[in-house]
Amino acid sequence: MSEADLEGFRQAGLVARRVRELARKLIREGAPVLGICEEVEEAIRGEGAEPAFPCNVGINEVAAHYTSPPGDSLQIPPRSIVKVDLGVSLDGYIADTAATVSLAPELEPLAEASRIVLRKAIESMRAGVPVYRIGRVVEEAARSLGFKPIRNLTGHEIRRYELHAGLSIPNVAAICPGKLESGHVYAVEPFLTTARGAGEVVSARLSTIFRADPSRAKLRKLGGRERELLAFLIERFRGLPYTPRWIEGFEKLRAVHEKLVRSGRIYSYPVLVEKRGEPVSQAEHTIIVFEDGFEVIT
Ligand code: MN
Ligand code: MN
Repeated sequence: MSEADLEGFRQAGLVARRVRELARKLIREGAPVLGICEEVEEAIRGEGAEPAFPCNVGINEVAAHYTSPPGDSLQIPPRSIVKVDLGVSLDGYIADTAATVSLAPELEPLAEASRIVLRKAIESMRAGVPVYRIGRVVEEAARSLGFKPIRNLTGHEIRRYELHAGLSIPNVAAICPGKLESGHVYAVEPFLTTARGAGEVVSARLSTIFRADPSRAKLRKLGGRERELLAFLIERFRGLPYTPRWIEGFEKLRAVHEKLVRSGRIYSYPVLVEKRGEPVSQAEHTIIVFEDGFEVIT
């Protein structure tokens, strides 16, 4: 990676860190989730960057992929544990970070555990380390604190213009191919649940985040309004995840959008919930790996 690329990722990381710290303060009992999502995304734009994906707010057993739909009336419930996960794209340089806020003292150890486990995982990172070893660090650290990692959620490599590229970084001691490389960028994101949890997420019926893949679009076989909407979504979001909140006048397009989702032309990310309904915490940083160590950019 060139010095200019390193600087690009570092700048994106600085923005992501500032916005994450702002987001933490927005999470209070009764706060509207829609307001949190909008404020986070506006703060990213206010720094001259773009959200790399819609702001995720995961409450209690909701682990990932929930963003407010248009007109959402959901509020942060009392005594909840809340994850906020945000991505910053600055000229294609992406930083991905998440934090957990606990609004109940009994959930604080779960929130704190994901931070401790993330720190341990990061300290094990340098070029040549096999990714399964990071998974082992995460799992052992989580279990020693009395919690369970979510086995089917992983971290990931990041490249310019590509949020999920190359390697996956597991959260359990599982067979997972690949070694960390110098000059590469990785998002590490342990998700933890209680010892009673299944340590696994399942898909809920709801989807709030979507993606139109430019390479898989078969516009020719589509007619009229479906073709028009799909072409618009590809042009506007260039293959990045989006929320209907970002589309003006979505209400009028809802039925056509739904049709494109049902036919598989638009990918929908189901909301992911802990299988036994147990609370989930998450911590995430974006890290550049070097021959002899690491640099946390978020
Ligand atoms: Mn993330
Ligand atoms: Mn991530």
